[in-house]
Amino acid sequence: MNIVLVGMQWGDEGKGKIIDVLSEKADYVVRYQGGNNAGHTVVVGEKEYIFHLIPSGILHPGKICCIGNGVVIDPEVLKKELQELEKNGIDFKNRFKISTLAHLIMPYHKNLDQLRETKRKNKIGTTGRGIGPCYADKINRCGIRMVDLLNPRIFSEKLKDNLKEKNEIFKKVYAHPGFNFQKIYRQYLEYGKLFKNYICNTALLLNGTDSKESDILLEGAQGTFLDIDFGTYPFVTSSSATSGGACIGTGIPPVRIDKVIGVCKAYTTRVGEGPFPTEFGEDFGKFMRDKGNEFGATTGRPRRCGWFDAVIARESVMLNGISELAITKMDILDGLEKVKICVAYKYKGKLIKNFPHDFEMLNKAKPVYKEMAGWPNQGDKVITFNQLHPNARAYLAELQKLLKAKITMVSIGSSRKSTIFI
Ligand code: GDP
Repeated sequence: MNIVLVGMQWGDEGKGKIIDVLSEKADYVVRYQGGNNAGHTVVVGEKEYIFHLIPSGILHPGKICCIGNGVVIDPEVLKKELQELEKNGIDFKNRFKISTLAHLIMPYHKNLDQLRETKRKNKIGTTGRGIGPCYADKINRCGIRMVDLLNPRIFSEKLKDNLKEKNEIFKKVYAHPGFNFQKIYRQYLEYGKLFKNYICNTALLLNGTDSKESDILLEGAQGTFLDIDFGTYPFVTSSSATSGGACIGTGIPPVRIDKVIGVCKAYTTRVGEGPFPTEFGEDFGKFMRDKGNEFGATTGRPRRCGWFDAVIARESVMLNGISELAITKMDILDGLEKVKICVAYKYKGKLIKNFPHDFEMLNKAKPVYKEMAGWPNQGDKVITFNQLHPNARAYLAELQKLLKAKITMVSIGSSRKSTIFI
């Protein structure tokens, strides 16, 4: 069975943990979009691992982990992640693969990302890691790909061509001195040598598997509302974070996708700028941020927090074709007297049930809440659904009803064992 796992909100839904749990049953675990702007946190025993590029399935011995063609790779970050695995005694040599077609983040992409953001009046809240400019070059057909690192002549040509144009832009538009060819050329050929054994045609590898006999888990990064098309544009990421991106970003055709699982938090968070209708007020927001430890795994940035927004989650179910839901961080809602679910928005006196595309409407929409009774702290003794407090179960039942998808997993803590399967 081939499963796509997607974030249903603005990222940071706790996908890392759910991917880790599902990886146990998969033979292949594949990343399909984004770059090192993503950060999956996986807790194994006492140890916490944070992955930015390598699929977190790598922690399970024997699983084959691929970085698909849809991912953009900062080779320095990848090098460090591989070194970290080595340091922790995790054997990956024969089971880690990188697509020949994955684009490389170059030093000029990172500088451009930061320089552009400083010039913008309305900041996008980019992580400044060169991901947007790298995808832009991919679309502009001047990107440099993993396979190019294995052919010095082609790499040299492409790099020269890029620097010719880019150095001029850097000098004239940003008063930046520009980049030295030799330095980048040498440094990137070194990366090529380092990754040589892992670079391959991953589409061929993945399509060579029989979905009756082997299971592929396709892990999305970021979340549906950061998707370049369907997200809260322009406060989005530069790739297709929705389930459709899994096909484009791996070469696995749509007919081979068997199921889409959506991951969402029991409440909502978002990092950076952009509309967020159910955002908490300042004091309660700070309280929940500390309670939920809502600080970015990649950037350490504080996340904005709010009530569960069923309007966006419903849209997510539709866009991704989600049939199963994993609800995470249920434990963070423990101990609240009341909990709220946004069931619709109100704008200029009108009730809005579907996610509005008009930016002003979305910015000014007032949430319409269904209020429900909270539940006490449940501790870590809960291991089955029926052991959850009745009010917590009622809350989950309401989510299930609103989203018209089945909740099959509830996460009540960061460790593997704090997962309830329904
Ligand atoms: P991702 O990008 O979607 O993988 O999300 P992150 O990994 O950045 O954020 C999830 C954070 O929440 C990590 O620190 C996890 O260990 C933690 N986490 C995941 N699920 C739960 C949960 O059910 N309860 C609690 N308290 N923490 C969780």
